Amino acid sequence: MMTRRDALKKTALSAAAVSLVTLPETNFAQAAAPTGPFKLPPLPYALDALEPHIDAKTMEIHHGRHHQAYITNLNKAVATDAKLAGTSLDELIRHLDEVPEAVRAAVRNNGGGHYNHSLFWQTMKKGGGGVPKGALGSAIEKTFGSFEKFKTAFSDAAMKQFGSGWAWLILEEKDLKVVSSPNQDVPFVHGKYPLLGVDVWEHAYYLKYQNKRADYVSAFFNVINWDVVTSRFEKPEL
Ligand code: MN
Repeated sequence: MMTRRDALKKTALSAAAVSLVTLPETNFAQAAAPTGPFKLPPLPYALDALEPHIDAKTMEIHHGRHHQAYITNLNKAVATDAKLAGTSLDELIRHLDEVPEAVRAAVRNNGGGHYNHSLFWQTMKKGGGGVPKGALGSAIEKTFGSFEKFKTAFSDAAMKQFGSGWAWLILEEKDLKVVSSPNQDVPFVHGKYPLLGVDVWEHAYYLKYQNKRADYVSAFFNVINWDVVTSRFEKPEL
């Protein structure tokens, strides 16, 4: 029986063979935007729920336009190949090497953008913040020394990410780590699983914070939904 992964690999190989054929650019230009398999998930709270830390206007544009644009462009990319269009977002991201080269960058950037933002909305809530309890709280203390030291490491990663990208708390095998990634790259490969990420693209904070990324990252700690992060820690999809 052919697994989905095998099917994707087979598709990637056959698509690689035909990618040498140059398609006229008008194929894309004239095509109506495909609706495609991927849809914008609704925010799990009102646009103004994260005020004053993250303002409603930023949320409206960030969710409704930026996140939507990643989805629209991802749908365009997977529309080039029926097998791709039937592949889950997780599979696409974890096996980018099996995506046909012609659309791999588009899937990496827009699939990553869709995954990262979908997670980002879920890991925030009105009246969030505080300190994680239970197994995650203990693991953070054990790994970083204290919650405050974790916060410093996470904030440093957010500040040191040059240009657009994300800072993350991830599980790598059984270990907690703070890392950063450029663009929309997702730390969701080779035994890595993202638990919490902060978007440090300027579109995430510029309206309210302008160039003061540190103030935005500090404010982000007031809206973190630790219940969601804890749940990902307890049941990682490695
Ligand atoms: Mn963003």
